[in-house]
Amino acid sequence: MATSTASPAEAEQIANAPAKSKKKLVRRLAADRSQQTRRAVQFAFLLLNLFLGAQFALWVRYFESHGVTTYVDRPAGVDGWLPIAGLMNLRYFIATRHIPEIHPAALVLFGIFLAASILLKKAFCSWLCPVGTASEYLWKLGRKIFHRNLNVPGWLDFALRSLKYLLLAFFLFIVFTMPIDGLVGFLMSPFGIVADVKMLNFFRYLGTIGIVVIMIMAALSVVIQNFWCRYLCPYGALMGIVSVISPVKIRRDVEACIDCGKCNKACPSHLPVDKLIQIRSVECTACMECVAVCPAENALQFSLSPQKASAAETSAQDAVAARWKHRALKPWTVAAVLALLFFGLVGAARITGHWQTNLSRELYMELVPNANSFEH
Ligand code: SF4
Ligand code: SF4
Repeated sequence: MATSTASPAEAEQIANAPAKSKKKLVRRLAADRSQQTRRAVQFAFLLLNLFLGAQFALWVRYFESHGVTTYVDRPAGVDGWLPIAGLMNLRYFIATRHIPEIHPAALVLFGIFLAASILLKKAFCSWLCPVGTASEYLWKLGRKIFHRNLNVPGWLDFALRSLKYLLLAFFLFIVFTMPIDGLVGFLMSPFGIVADVKMLNFFRYLGTIGIVVIMIMAALSVVIQNFWCRYLCPYGALMGIVSVISPVKIRRDVEACIDCGKCNKACPSHLPVDKLIQIRSVECTACMECVAVCPAENALQFSLSPQKASAAETSAQDAVAARWKHRALKPWTVAAVLALLFFGLVGAARITGHWQTNLSRELYMELVPNANSFEH
């Protein structure tokens, strides 16, 4: 049995849940396409990140070779890999109402992912994040090899889950207590300017400790579902907190549900989906795995709150259908909202000149080859 991750409000829902009764299954008519759609989005985003990484490596190579290799433009999208810069830029923006000139894309992407979490729960984690994608396929590999994943005891799971919030609190404390002059000084310093190059170099020149840590993380991710995301990722922790206000949630219709418990077993976040009316938990990543396995028509949906059924509904089945009409989000709608947010806001940032860091090639020629010598 999976470790349950219900919030206090959800625990109350479980306590007040009516006793299970044998209900007639009204089988779903349309095939579920949520996982195919999500996989397509995950891999498209992964490919985009690989492309950006390769282009960025070529850009760095140009400066390291002192202009011998071919010049390619710096892909500003790599700023998405600088979440601390995104947080600092947010602080700068709040204090000055200006988008910073160094790594502005970090702020734009940070804003897009926060907006996605406000609209669609923590969909960023299970639909977009390349680390989330890698994490998911590692535990699926583990399940294939060992036929199961390790079940972390409840008390340990709870203690480990708090680590990501402690890390988040630490970063928020550092960034939001830094004097604004110090923050600007950091962002404009050589260290701040080539933070992206330092990040690339970290992975290019991994030392023994780095390799061992990554291998341990990968091994733990094979045996424990979403080890990194569930216990250590401060970015996901922030997205989860923001996602609490999302109007779209996983919602269960008790009349249509036949209490088979399949959703519960399928949930990688160990949420007691079959006992709740709606999932408010910060751990829900909107992966829709629960929806994919549900056999009953309109029993489980990723949706806005249901409509009130009118007296015109002639049967219980019609009443259930009326409740969720135009309220449940189709998987392609989730994909379309994410694409709209992503391409819309990136496009707006490009048009308004808030996407690229505009520094001279001469300056980069001075800084990039010496990136590892800058300390803060
Ligand atoms: S399976 Fe359902 S409840 Fe569990 S994380 Fe995914 S969407 Fe949320
Ligand atoms: S999968 Fe969950 S929501 Fe669907 S019928 Fe079974 S218990 Fe109910």
